[in-house]
Amino acid sequence: DLLLRDVVVRFPGLESPALAIPALDLPAGAQVALTGPSGCGKTTLINVLTGLERVSHGRVAWNGTDLATLGEGERDRWRAANVGLVMQDFHLFPGLSALENVLLPQRLARFRLPAGVRDEAVRLLGRVGITRLEQPIETMSRGQMQRVAVARALVARPGIIVADEPTASLDGASGAAVAELLTGLAGEAGATLIVASHDPRLVERLGHTLRLDGGRLES
Ligand code: ATP
Repeated sequence: DLLLRDVVVRFPGLESPALAIPALDLPAGAQVALTGPSGCGKTTLINVLTGLERVSHGRVAWNGTDLATLGEGERDRWRAANVGLVMQDFHLFPGLSALENVLLPQRLARFRLPAGVRDEAVRLLGRVGITRLEQPIETMSRGQMQRVAVARALVARPGIIVADEPTASLDGASGAAVAELLTGLAGEAGATLIVASHDPRLVERLGHTLRLDGGRLES
């Protein structure tokens, strides 16, 4: 589960905080949409939840682990083991195959690829409809690329999946497919899913909507 208390994030030169959240609790396995106007603090909140941004004040804890108490290296290891990320523009590695794109972060985060990760990658690529495992990523459609990114986010079985506008760069049919796969596979894995999105096809699949405005949550 996730617990936020008295969280404030300030940036130099900004008069008011970019983020100010007195309290937020999410049970494990929750699926939540994050919406709000441009500049409302969505990316800042996502970065706080994944340990990429330090809070100026307050407490952010996942399953009892307070991110503020982790050192830099510890936070990187915590993120590699616990968080799967899906970005708007895929952040895939050109020149590598679909399968290698799913495996590379695991190769980088660990000394050796743990047993079973390759099988899980093949299984997940099958689930997202990618059958040509050796196909170079740059020859794929945008929809296929994002489906590879969904498989990559899930391969280490993280308890937390965070997606930043995962369908915004896709056409209608591809976006709908990614929305269905992301929510369906996160649900099967029992992972908590947090998605910044304005895409109604995606938002309506998620259990709750958190609306940010000026860094504050509207109730
Ligand atoms: P968008 O939907 O346009 O991406 P957002 O909701 O993700 O916006 P954030 O990127 O979280 O918004 O930004 C929230 C506020 O904090 C904005 O006013 C932004 O200009 C400011 N901000 C974000 N990052 C920094 C930074 N590193 N330094 C200074 N100000 C920042």
